[in-house]
Amino acid sequence: MGEGTSSGGKKRKAPPASPSCPVPAAVVKQEPVEGDVAVALADLPVEAVVVEPPRPRVNVSLYVRMLHCECLRPLEPPIFKCEAGHRLCGRCRGEGHCRRCGRDIASVPCGPEDLEELFDAFRVPCPFERYGCASTVVYHDTDAHRAACAYAPLPCGVAGCPFAGSPRMLRGHLAVAHCWRLDTLPGYGNPLALRVPSEPARHLLAVEGDDRRLFVLSVRELGGGAGRAVWAVSVACVRASGATVAGPQYKCILLTQAPGKAATDGRRAIWETDLLESCEAPGGGAAAWEEDPLLVPPSRLSGPSKGIDLRVRIDVVDPTAPAALLAAAP
Ligand SMILES: [Zn+2]
Ligand SMILES: [Zn+2]
Ligand SMILES: [Zn+2]
Ligand SMILES: [Zn+2]
Repeated sequence: MGEGTSSGGKKRKAPPASPSCPVPAAVVKQEPVEGDVAVALADLPVEAVVVEPPRPRVNVSLYVRMLHCECLRPLEPPIFKCEAGHRLCGRCRGEGHCRRCGRDIASVPCGPEDLEELFDAFRVPCPFERYGCASTVVYHDTDAHRAACAYAPLPCGVAGCPFAGSPRMLRGHLAVAHCWRLDTLPGYGNPLALRVPSEPARHLLAVEGDDRRLFVLSVRELGGGAGRAVWAVSVACVRASGATVAGPQYKCILLTQAPGKAATDGRRAIWETDLLESCEAPGGGAAAWEEDPLLVPPSRLSGPSKGIDLRVRIDVVDPTAPAALLAAAP
């Protein structure tokens, strides 16, 4: 389309750039006129093309009662209160007494305490919602929840693997992608007998009825030469250290005994934890939680395959007092 249309053939030109005469922003916001040749950005002074960055937003939710009057209408400023502090809309104020408690309505608008109550009521989804946490948390408590959340993603830890996920996600990932063995204990407090190969490896332990938790069992060789190696077995709970503090706490009892001997035979070894330690990267290298293991000498290995016979039990330590237990732990 040529000149001579609605623009009258006139080109709107930006005023000449001059430090003493910046172009008003309105010039830039004019809609282009049909037939007009777009004003080249290069023709405009630098001040005129600055675009305001979008202001950050956060989506919060509130319980409906925070936003509604006792008459169920949405509250709209100015908001008043009865003598007992119930918030009321202008229409209810005209009635002279509170619908809820019948007391007189004070002629004072809401004060700072109402603002504080509001700030304590703003809630947002847990930052780890996509990892399975369904909690909503008070906005200003988000950091505290993030540190303690049981769904906090943890790295797989296997060399070269970038996967990170909640303990539950890691359970599926390690079992499928890395073919880790998964054994399921028949509930907390109930032992499971299992035989693991005398090979350096890590295995997964789940507990029936609790598909949110994951435990890792490590088998390491402590040296001693072929056929004479001592094996080190340890267990940890797969979770972030913040989630450990938040509880619940667990303890673990591992037991091994000489092959062919009764459980009452004195030649057995027991490993019992005070509180189970955390493992934050189940596939990672040697870790602190493996430093005080159950030792299994070669004489305790079973069968031609030289397996390690174990009985494993995981107990929940009083979940109502995790902080007190932690404080009492050495
Ligand atoms: Zn009302
Ligand atoms: Zn009232
Ligand atoms: Zn959470
Ligand atoms: Zn992995």
